[in-house]
Amino acid sequence: MKKLSIVVPCYNEELTIVPFLEATQKVEALMANELTFDYIFVNDGSKDRTLEVLREVASKFDNVHYLSFSRNFGKEAGLLAGLEAADGDLITVMDADLQDPPELLQEMYAKIQEGYDVVGTRRADRKGEPLIRSLFAKTFYWLINQISSTEMVDGARDFRLMTRQVVDSILDLKEVNRFSKGLFSWVGYDVAYVAYENRERIAGETSWSFWSLLRYSMDGFINFSEAPLNLAMWAGGGSFIASLLGIAFVVIRKLTIGGSIAGWASLVTIILFIGGLQLLALGIIGKYIAKIFLETKKRPVYLVKEKG
Ligand code: UDP
Ligand code: MG
Repeated sequence: MKKLSIVVPCYNEELTIVPFLEATQKVEALMANELTFDYIFVNDGSKDRTLEVLREVASKFDNVHYLSFSRNFGKEAGLLAGLEAADGDLITVMDADLQDPPELLQEMYAKIQEGYDVVGTRRADRKGEPLIRSLFAKTFYWLINQISSTEMVDGARDFRLMTRQVVDSILDLKEVNRFSKGLFSWVGYDVAYVAYENRERIAGETSWSFWSLLRYSMDGFINFSEAPLNLAMWAGGGSFIASLLGIAFVVIRKLTIGGSIAGWASLVTIILFIGGLQLLALGIIGKYIAKIFLETKKRPVYLVKEKG
């Protein structure tokens, strides 16, 4: 029988792990004649009792395992650690807060049997989400799909069922700065999507603030597009051409009409404009260099302190 590995990154999820496990085990019982389940929880440096809860459930059930990081490394690191540890023929990634409904697994598995390599999930709507957040999310997806050749689906969650082959391909991407939404899509394969209504997390709090989401989306741009660099280049090119026209204008006027004008204010504005452009371009280049710096250090993405 085929084995399904379920990877669950956890950060401060002491309240949700048990309900999550219970809900998923119901689905496990329903699918028992098709698949065996295996759980890999990754404790991402939680500050609450998550680790104790994980130790407990792991000793209670043979098919529940956990990894515990030495500190908080972020959800991307948790995902990577879980995928590396997973040895199933099929692998799925789920949040611990039951925002990813386990009941969907049956429908997703049916699609895998139809021949798809990946079955992703997307939210049918953004109900229950603050308006400003939806607006930013929509803008992000629109913009990144304009400028990046890797397609990213609006509303797609990390919750996805993948074959062994797909996961191996994802693990072949050795970059240290991991933007999973992009990596999942970059590897390609035949992807089907299942839509469902947005759910609220059952307990605890989201660990994403508006600013951390904004920073995350910046990572998406830098990791999956050269557009910011091109923007800097075009802006530089544009102002260079404008300055050539300006020089021509000044020279021709000097030779024809003669004299010079009082232009203190306009001069200062232009200097500020050019200075600003240069700093902006430097900043953009700096962002990419910082990424290169992080990549070349080849530090491990996570450190495991305890396994069970
Ligand atoms: N998570 C994690 N490390 C972090 C932040 C979050 O492993 O640094 C996990 C978290 O426990 C949850 C999943 O990632 O299982 C999604 O997090 P959350 O529910 O806070 O995000 P949201 O659903 O609001 O996007
Ligand atoms: Mg959540």
